[in-house]
Amino acid sequence: MARGKQIYEGKAKILYEGPEPGTLIQHFKDDATAFNNQKHAVLEGKGVLNNRISEFIMSGLERVGIPTHFIRRINMREQLIRHVEIIPLEVVVRNVAAGSLAKRLGLNEGDALPRSVVEFYYKDDKLGDPMVSEDHITAFNWGSAQEIDDMMAYALRVNDYLSGLFAGAGIRLIDFKLEFGRQYEGDLVRLILADEISPDSCRLWDADTGDSMDKDRFRKDMGGVVEGYREVARRLGILRNENERGDAKGPVLVSSNDENKA
Ligand code: UDP
Repeated sequence: MARGKQIYEGKAKILYEGPEPGTLIQHFKDDATAFNNQKHAVLEGKGVLNNRISEFIMSGLERVGIPTHFIRRINMREQLIRHVEIIPLEVVVRNVAAGSLAKRLGLNEGDALPRSVVEFYYKDDKLGDPMVSEDHITAFNWGSAQEIDDMMAYALRVNDYLSGLFAGAGIRLIDFKLEFGRQYEGDLVRLILADEISPDSCRLWDADTGDSMDKDRFRKDMGGVVEGYREVARRLGILRNENERGDAKGPVLVSSNDENKA
């Protein structure tokens, strides 16, 4: 597939011009960063897993009527997406106290919240992505009141979908981060889900043991980061276990579509 020039490089992904107007190619790198870039590592295989996990989740969300930027996966590390104007906000949904919320409010990690909570953070690395209120968002014109309503409604629907999906895989969804973008279609503007949904952007705990299966393994130097991501993919049915066929190499990615041709 024709890949145009690079238009953006972030911490874990690169965006290239896509083959048609209004499309981009999203490339998943193996790089991992945390604490506002102070910690960096290359985790072999992470990009491949995140590409597959994000494809699986975004496709599932489309099927239940939540619009996303995902069009189709192209190969092991790349997917074709719709070009959107990214809203400069991180939308975090929390079900259980963890991370910065537990610290800020003095809550015990692992305690269920009275109800799911949605928070907004302004995307700015120099400022360390500060938490902002809905009033900040409209005052500084990062988004309209209607867009805030839409983002909150979509975020809670995504939470319901993901909570069920992961519960069925023996995984507790603690919290996660979403990003949204504006898609322009003539005079119309449509809000759609963008970026990725993967263990890089979710807290996922094993339902039985409470073990982290997400980027906290990297943040906290716990080791086994890629193994945790691979186990998430395996439980979601994205990986098949080669051992079951008498091959001792362990789980491998299920090949499908045209990834071998790319
Ligand atoms: N998160 C993210 N990107 C960020 C900040 C947070 O994907 O830049 C995710 C994080 O993985 C977690 C959720 O958002 O699932 C809530 O993160 P929190 O505010 O607790 O921040 P953290 O303690 O992870 O820095």
